Amino acid sequence: MRDTAAATPIGALDALLHSISTAGDLTDNHILTLMHIVGQRGNVTTTSVLGALRILDNPGSVQKLVARGTRRAVYQVKDPDSEIKLTCRPALRYCTCSQFFQVLVRESIMCEHVLAVKLTEALGTLDKTEISDESFADLP
Ligand SMILES: [Zn+2]
Repeated sequence: MRDTAAATPIGALDALLHSISTAGDLTDNHILTLMHIVGQRGNVTTTSVLGALRILDNPGSVQKLVARGTRRAVYQVKDPDSEIKLTCRPALRYCTCSQFFQVLVRESIMCEHVLAVKLTEALGTLDKTEISDESFADLP
């Protein structure tokens, strides 16, 4: 039997994000499904869901930064505990937080910050800011 498990949770997550986007709201059912999807890979991911929900509780915590010239984009997430602004690249599931290393080691889906970006985008509540190409190049 072929191991297709690696691709499955991401596909399920994308379907869920689409459903959240269509509903325009994050319901309890969505959260339960989210727990189920990301909880398959262990405790780090369950922490990710709770952490992402805490980030969503603080409006303006997630920002999309777009470079004025190149139109390249990254996301900045303010961590609710440390107040540090982290740089996320959701397409790569990359984040500058310390949790990201654990995500790699334990093969979790993503950290709470990347998950928060994806949920904020699905909900359509993302703040967008244009920055200079120079500032963009200086981002971690
Ligand atoms: Zn992170």
